[in-house]
Amino acid sequence: MRILVSNDDGIFSKGILALAEVMSAFGEVFVVAPDQERSASSHSLTLKNPLRAKMVDFPYPVQMAYAVDGTPSDCVKLALSTLFPERPDLVVTGINRGSNLGVDVFYSGTVASAMEAIFEGIPSFAFSLASPSFRADLNPSKIWIKKCIEWALARPALFGVLLNINFPFLPLNEIKGLRLTRLGSVRYQGSYEQRFDPSGHPYFWLKGIVEVLDHSQENDIVAVNDGYVSMTPLRAEMTDFHAIETLKQDGDCPEKI
Ligand code: MN
Repeated sequence: MRILVSNDDGIFSKGILALAEVMSAFGEVFVVAPDQERSASSHSLTLKNPLRAKMVDFPYPVQMAYAVDGTPSDCVKLALSTLFPERPDLVVTGINRGSNLGVDVFYSGTVASAMEAIFEGIPSFAFSLASPSFRADLNPSKIWIKKCIEWALARPALFGVLLNINFPFLPLNEIKGLRLTRLGSVRYQGSYEQRFDPSGHPYFWLKGIVEVLDHSQENDIVAVNDGYVSMTPLRAEMTDFHAIETLKQDGDCPEKI
């Protein structure tokens, strides 16, 4: 298998190193990642500036590794179209430092870069660990990545979807298993803190106080809080078919004016 590995925490993060190591058991690994942290950059693309891709010495033996001075989506698009034009069989991103659950998937560069592969019809996985620590033990996640990939590759129903996978921050023997989940419903509360600079001018800093709105077992946030690995199949199709059906039944679309 040819495997493209990317992330949003930057090419020198511990998470991408751990992911590349695990993936080398599955095939040839190619790494393309931002040259610095680009978390929460979602699908943003660099349009007004050129992109530079530098070949780097990756700390684990891989086929080739590039650091790109762009966003996570830039990295995957550039890799698929230009840097490695031979199509990979799989794209994996992460391991992100911090979870990507519920509405986070709309902001996450880890999830967005995996979605770039789905746009091209390539199966992908996004991996995140529910710990913001730079020193978190990644070994339990590495073991679960291997298990998740083996499990998913043997199931054709999952071909072509993005599997968003979040690990609880627990020792291996305390992780209770895998739970298939949906995106949980959450609300961010009072999310900007106002402070003042030395000249007395206010500035604002985003805080992440999250309120979980539903507590069902299928909620991805609940699953990770309960000690399970959460696996949510995602697709790019966001159309609300129910709304279309309801409006069609009402039959009141405007006619030609
Ligand atoms: Mn990140």
